[in-house]
Amino acid sequence: MLNQQGRPTSAGIAGTRGRRTFTSNRALQMEEALIFETGRHDVTGVDLDEPEPFASRLGALARADAIGLPGLSEPETMRHYVRLSQKNYAIDSGLYPLGSCTMKHNPRLNEAMARLPGFSDIHPLQPPSTVQGALALIEELARWLMVLTGAEAVAMSPKAGAHGELCGMAAIKAAIDAKGEGATRRIVLVPESAHGTNPATAAAIGFIVKAVPTGADGTVHPDAVRALMGPDVAAIMLTNPNTCGLFEKDIVEIAAILHEAGAYFYCDGANFNAIVGKARPVDLGVDAMHINLHKTFSTPHGGGGPGSGPVVLSRRLAPFAPVPFIRRDGDALSLVEHTDGSQSLGRLTAFHGQMGMFVRALSYMLSHGSDGLKQASEDAVLNANYVRACLADLMSLPFGNRPCMHEALFDDTWLKDTGVTTLDFAKAMIDEGYHPMTMYFPLVVHGAMLIEPTESESRASLDLFIMTLRDLARSALDGETDRFSGAPYLAPRRRLDETRAARNPILRWTKPKPIDG
Ligand SMILES: *Cc1c(COP(=O)(O)O)cnc(C)c1O
Repeated sequence: MLNQQGRPTSAGIAGTRGRRTFTSNRALQMEEALIFETGRHDVTGVDLDEPEPFASRLGALARADAIGLPGLSEPETMRHYVRLSQKNYAIDSGLYPLGSCTMKHNPRLNEAMARLPGFSDIHPLQPPSTVQGALALIEELARWLMVLTGAEAVAMSPKAGAHGELCGMAAIKAAIDAKGEGATRRIVLVPESAHGTNPATAAAIGFIVKAVPTGADGTVHPDAVRALMGPDVAAIMLTNPNTCGLFEKDIVEIAAILHEAGAYFYCDGANFNAIVGKARPVDLGVDAMHINLHKTFSTPHGGGGPGSGPVVLSRRLAPFAPVPFIRRDGDALSLVEHTDGSQSLGRLTAFHGQMGMFVRALSYMLSHGSDGLKQASEDAVLNANYVRACLADLMSLPFGNRPCMHEALFDDTWLKDTGVTTLDFAKAMIDEGYHPMTMYFPLVVHGAMLIEPTESESRASLDLFIMTLRDLARSALDGETDRFSGAPYLAPRRRLDETRAARNPILRWTKPKPIDG
């Protein structure tokens, strides 16, 4: 049902409410039961010969009863997993505007490279002499990361952004301990707008977290840092560009304040996508920064792809880098696996890091070239500003309508008195086929909606997204609350109690009791 402006009326959307199908399928969206509910114990998709009788060497540990794994035929198995895969919204299905997550396209060239047997079929315990090519790839990627950031060293083993934070802050702790200041330098400054992993990391290392207020313009002011400085401060953890999508313009001055007081500067580099090829963080005074390869340098993430969070280190922190690292001796590459006699902070993880992610990230870098990486950053910033400019007359911007970096942050001032909340608005986006933007983060903004389109969206794709959001926004402002209050109406599941699901997850299937009688 469309109104005069050609927009669906709330009656049109609400009219689909309550429509039931016999199968619970919704058109070609299939319902899928748990495999434990559909599987049978006497069925298997493969024909195996009866094993020869054998004597178990497990003794009393041998299982006495049936294992109880569900069995399906081969076609049933295929359908089960294909249907499950279709429940996953992915960057390969549509625009994924999740702010701070940089959900960009993962070029298929990356996948072809990662599947080359010399990279995919090797084992981390192989002797280094048999995996020289893989080590050369890690070394080459490390070199690119150091060139792009101006760093002296890079730790390749961290397996996600948060793990990289742990690595960088552990290096800072090691440097402070080496100076004999471990007992006194206990405080880590974290801006209010920071990602939750920042204070969590500082606390996990044993530091005490102190919040730095965000200024009225959405950035951290040097005076706010100065006011908290003292000989007890170990470091600051600052994100740049920050989670409000703004460049911390006083970063050089803030770094100097830290360094003059003998403290370190950790930069959360999750938003590096906005400045690759434009600025080198270590030139700005950064001592340690993690890079989310799975954000800035494509590689699949969200929907289950693994992450990778190498950490670049300045000259001051380089001696404390974790093992393992690669050493070159002429043409031969070897792995330094032990800390003996060095100041290295030790080992963070088994083995060497996420090899598959390394291959994809380097493939992305080499196929773009240094000029292409710079262009990607510029396009990411351009796309975010296009979204901002096209929505600014309807939706409110907490820090004024001025240029942003790679993501545009709106608040919920414009929804005041409409009866529609940020959550309602995000859920209505699902009915329109879009994954919601990041909601209620950063916490410094009321009802935050953080939109990051990334550089991989075309003009046409951005225009459709913008027109959809404009349509929803007008609907909210026109009082069509029905379109929002119960959304999503068209998804296989309606509105869930997400807080309860997160706090009280039920992860184990238990067999229902037979009904008596
Ligand atoms: C994504 C993100 C992180 C954490 O990275 P993970 O790879 O998810 O652990 C930290 N800080 C910011 C600002 C982020 O966007």
